[in-house]
Amino acid sequence: MSTAAAYAVTSPDGRFEKTTIQRRDLLPHDVLIDVRYAGICHSDIHTARNEWHGTRYPCVPGHEIAGIVAAVGSAVTRFQVGDRVGVGVMVDSCGRCEFCLAGEEQFCANGNTMTYNGTVPEELQAGGYTLGGYSSQVVVTEHFVVSIPDSLGLDVAAPLLCAGITLYSPLRHWNAGPGKQVAVVGMGGLGHVGVKIAAAMGAEVTVLSQSLSKQEDGLRFGAQHYYATSDRKTFRELRNRFDLIVNTVSADLPINNYMRLLKTDGTLVILGLPDGDLSVAPFTLTNYRRSLSGSTIGSIAETQEMLNFCAEHNIGAEIETISADRIDEAYERVVASDVRYRFVIDAGSF
Ligand code: NAP
Ligand code: ZN
Repeated sequence: MSTAAAYAVTSPDGRFEKTTIQRRDLLPHDVLIDVRYAGICHSDIHTARNEWHGTRYPCVPGHEIAGIVAAVGSAVTRFQVGDRVGVGVMVDSCGRCEFCLAGEEQFCANGNTMTYNGTVPEELQAGGYTLGGYSSQVVVTEHFVVSIPDSLGLDVAAPLLCAGITLYSPLRHWNAGPGKQVAVVGMGGLGHVGVKIAAAMGAEVTVLSQSLSKQEDGLRFGAQHYYATSDRKTFRELRNRFDLIVNTVSADLPINNYMRLLKTDGTLVILGLPDGDLSVAPFTLTNYRRSLSGSTIGSIAETQEMLNFCAEHNIGAEIETISADRIDEAYERVVASDVRYRFVIDAGSF
């Protein structure tokens, strides 16, 4: 075992404190990564505050990790010391089920291992659960490590490891592209990257935000239209407009109002994960044969494809870089939708 500096919370309403954690000795396929930047995803907040229940403490969140390879295990072939790499939401999966064999580790039938708060044998991580990227070093099996193209800064690339792939995967799956009307609901960490990616794919993009306060930014990120959902006229004007709506909102929404904005055969994809239930009026589905679906991150191959796409289209996250002693403050600002558009922790401050 080696040690790493980290920031952890010890209870749902606790503050982040500096601590020292253990990382396993390298197994043949392991990669040791010096973390340079760790993005703050709203899922980190849901978990740290036990909003999804089942959080184990001390909890070290962080699944938007960008860094440099510091050492490799004896059987590693894809990475060398000094490589620029990223780690996202998963660090392992069974590798044997039909989904893993098809390269869709995010759907692993036996449950993939999350980068933090995921169950692992005690010999892999003291305590029996994973600790994430708010730390100076991580050890990850090579299949779950991706390469960050040289043209992307590690800081603006870090959020792509979760926010980027979470939007890229459904936008690809539901064929966002020329001739398609795509709406992005909520322009926070996920949403702003979604606007950039959907626009780069060639779709006509509309942002549905609570207010018009970020309109200028949305248009700069590539949206053609920007509407405030606090204005009731928005829902009348945009009725039956969209082929695809991706909902990134972290709180409960009146989902029927959004379903009615879909045209025939349109799909609303849930990405945001508040703890509550959805209530859908059957007529909003039967009328116009609309679909309601969801999506969770993307596969490892797709994550690499997304990073290459972002490099090609010069897409990085819009970030505010902070030191680790400001994590609590950053969480408050994310919850208040006061983030433009992703906080990234400088790992030099761990
Ligand atoms: P975020 O930066 O906080 O963005 C969420 C946005 O939702 C806010 O910026 C705000 O956008 C809007 N919003 C917040 N509260 C709202 C409310 N009460 N009513 C209406 N709109 C509201 O969060 P994020 O990191 O993008 O994550 C968003 C959600 O996705 C979280 O629940 C997270 O856990 C989940 N997530 C899911 C996956 C997946 O694989 N499915 C992956 C990562 C994260 P405006 O200011 O523009 O209105
Ligand atoms: Zn995330």
